[in-house]
Amino acid sequence: MKDSNDRLLQVENLKKYFPLRSGVFSRTHGYVRAVDGVSFDIGRRRTLGLVGESGCGKTTLARALVRLWEPTSGEVVFDGVSIRDLNTREMRRIRRNMQIIFQDPFSSLNPRMTVGAIVGEPLAIHRVAKRRERLDIVRGLLEKVGLSGGHVNSYPHEFSGGQRQRICIARAIALRPKLIVCDEPVSALDVSVQSQILNLLRDLQDDYGLSYLFISHDLRVVEHMSDEIAVMYLGRIVEMAGGDAISENPLHPYTRALFSAVPVPDPSSRRKVIVLGGDVPSPISPPPGCHFHPRCPEKMGVCEQKYPPLKDAGGGHEVACFLY
Ligand code: SF4
Repeated sequence: MKDSNDRLLQVENLKKYFPLRSGVFSRTHGYVRAVDGVSFDIGRRRTLGLVGESGCGKTTLARALVRLWEPTSGEVVFDGVSIRDLNTREMRRIRRNMQIIFQDPFSSLNPRMTVGAIVGEPLAIHRVAKRRERLDIVRGLLEKVGLSGGHVNSYPHEFSGGQRQRICIARAIALRPKLIVCDEPVSALDVSVQSQILNLLRDLQDDYGLSYLFISHDLRVVEHMSDEIAVMYLGRIVEMAGGDAISENPLHPYTRALFSAVPVPDPSSRRKVIVLGGDVPSPISPPPGCHFHPRCPEKMGVCEQKYPPLKDAGGGHEVACFLY
C-alpha cells in the first residue's frame, strides 16, 4: 500500500458523460459514457501507462483529469489538493504542475507563433522572469529537448514531426511541472523517431523527477515506458498492475488478447494470437453485465447479468473479471 505522501495523483470514481440532445428543445435523451467510474493513483516519479483500443475513453480521461473537460463526477486529488471545485485562478496555479502533451504535434502548435513564443508562452502567462531572461530560459529548454537554442525565431512549419513534438515537450516542461499527461505522444510519428522521443521523456523524468500518465493504444510503447499499467475497455479500467506483472501474466481475457497481438522478435515463437470477434460496443448503450461479454471467449452465465468489480487477484494485481 502506497503512503499518501508518495501519491502525486489520486483519481477516485471519475466519470465523464456527454449528453445526447435532439429536438427543438434540445432534450437530453441519453449519454455517451466515455469515462465511467475510473480510479487509480500515480506515485511521484512514476509512470502509469494507460492502454486500450481507440474510442475506449483514454483521451477523455486525460482531458477530464486536468479539467480541460469538466468531469461529470468523481474526485481528483493532485499533490494533496482536491481540484474538483477549484476556481479558474486556483486551477491555473495547479496547472503549472500539471501539463499535457497532445498526440498531434502538427495541430497543437500555433503556426503563426515563433518557437520562442510558443515555448515561452507558459512562462509569460505565469510571469516567470523578465522578457530577456525568458528568452534565455527558452533557449535552454530547446537545448534540453535536443534542438538548437538558435531555433527561437523559427516557425513550426520549418520542423519535422519529431522536432515539433520536441517543441511541445519543451513547452510542457517550461514550468517544471510535477505531472505530465502524455496523450499518445508518439502515435503520429515515424517508428524511427518514436524511440528518440520516448528516450527523451525518460531522461526528462530522471532529470526533473516527473510523473507521467502515459496514454497509448500501442502496448509495446506502454510496456517500455511504464512502472504500472492500466488497461481500459469501454470507459472502465479492467486490469491494473505493475508493468512486469501485467505483461508476464495478463489475467483479463481482453488484456490477454491485446498482448497476444504484440509482435515478438523471435521467428521460432509459437505464441497464439487471440482474435476477438466483433467491434467495441457503443458507449451510448454498453452491453449489460460485463461490457466485454459479447467478445469474450471465456464468457459465463453470470457475465451477462452483473458487472465484475475491480478486485485484487493477489500481489496488488487488480482485475475486473468473474474468472478470478
Ligand atoms: Fe469474460 Fe466474464 Fe471475465 Fe467479462 S467477466 S471478461 S465476460 S469471463
